[in-house]
Amino acid sequence: MQHSHDYLIIGAGMAGEAAAQALRGAAANATIAMLGAEADPPYDRPPLSKALWKDGREDAIWRALDKARAEVTLQRNAVKIERAAHTVTDDVGDTWRYGKLLIATGGAPRRLPFGGDDFIYYRTVGDYRRLRAAAKPGQHFAVIGGGFIGSEIAAALATNDCRVTMLFPEDGICARAYPRALADAVTAYYRAQGVDVRTGMTATGGSAQALTLSDGSTLKVDGVVAGLGIIPNVQLARDAGLEVDNGIVVNAHLQTSDPDIYAAGDVAAFPAPVLGRRLRVEHADAANTMGARAGKCMAGEDAPYNELPFFYSDLFDLGYEAVGILDARLETVEQWVTPFREGVVYYLDGSRVRGVLLWNTWDQVAAARKLIAEPGPFDATSVLGRLPAAG
Ligand SMILES: Cc1cc2nc3c(=O)[nH]c(=O)nc-3n(C[C@H](O)[C@H](O)[C@H](O)COP(=O)(O)OP(=O)(O)OC[C@H]3O[C@@H](n4cnc5c(N)ncnc54)[C@H](O)[C@@H]3O)c2cc1C
Repeated sequence: MQHSHDYLIIGAGMAGEAAAQALRGAAANATIAMLGAEADPPYDRPPLSKALWKDGREDAIWRALDKARAEVTLQRNAVKIERAAHTVTDDVGDTWRYGKLLIATGGAPRRLPFGGDDFIYYRTVGDYRRLRAAAKPGQHFAVIGGGFIGSEIAAALATNDCRVTMLFPEDGICARAYPRALADAVTAYYRAQGVDVRTGMTATGGSAQALTLSDGSTLKVDGVVAGLGIIPNVQLARDAGLEVDNGIVVNAHLQTSDPDIYAAGDVAAFPAPVLGRRLRVEHADAANTMGARAGKCMAGEDAPYNELPFFYSDLFDLGYEAVGILDARLETVEQWVTPFREGVVYYLDGSRVRGVLLWNTWDQVAAARKLIAEPGPFDATSVLGRLPAAG
């Protein structure tokens, strides 16, 4: 079957939905189509590891895509882009002609070479439903990975009366992002909540019932959940000859190396002039804002994406927002109101602030962005006290 639309969006996720809404706002009479690989229409992913484990309200996650009046085809994978013909082919052989195309394909979870589909690689609402059904009180889960997803899932399971063993190679929870003392404090906090945190430990083989660990021991469990990061879904773009470097390379207007093809969300590597480098992030804020800007740009508006996205997370009763580069290898300057409960961490690279972690410190994202944009020079003494800034 052949279809033809002014705008085609590949990926019915957060960025794709935001783009569809913006397109409809900017081009009232345009035809918009969307292809989505999942069985579910677009939804917010952050609640999958947070709110849904508190209130279980799945009805709150769905996004208002119907307002965009797009022709949405789910369970359909785009498999090929023919740039000269301006067509996309999907996995049932349909051809979709586009005027302008958005690639918003997100990323696929990294997998282990063992365990197969018995391990839950946590990314979709389908993964949530599967884990939720298995997570009966007293069941024992191994959570592999000590980063953002692993730490949130471990907290979600523990608060739902499951036994949890966390395994990861680093020295502490989120140790690649947090300064050492904070990673240690969060790890101690998880242990105090009853989570068996095994630092410096990996799974080397086994099944969803028994994992072989790097110290040679066996861990018997009722299930395995893995949060090992994602690999951006760039294959379509690469096969089409678009420039790819970690993500799909876009300019400030979110155009790829083909001016009729745009990219946004987790899959896009965008310029971040205040950081002096290109950035690819996996942040809900970026998916929403970049998706919306891409929609506007596709409709002909001058709507560059020139923001530094922020990230947020909840871990038991701890929570934070963060902006810029959170890399524990940078110089970190900690400013605590209450140690490891409320404060700010500045990430310095040379004389510039490159990232800010706002630990239980709220309404400071705009001020953090401003600080990162300042030329400095800053050092460990002069940066202290810069945040919180007066509203
Ligand atoms: C459990 C979880 C918790 C999170 N929590 C937070 C948080 O607290 N804070 C935060 O800032 N961020 C969080 N994130 C990250 C955030 O959700 C992502 O950054 C965001 O979803 C990215 O949106 P996207 O549209 O780029 O990708 P996605 O939302 O992943 O959507 C991409 C869609 O494209 C589809 N697709 C891929 N290839 C094709 C193809 N060839 N054809 C058709 N469809 C295709 C995929 O199946 C998917 O549905 C979380 C993510 C997860 C998984």
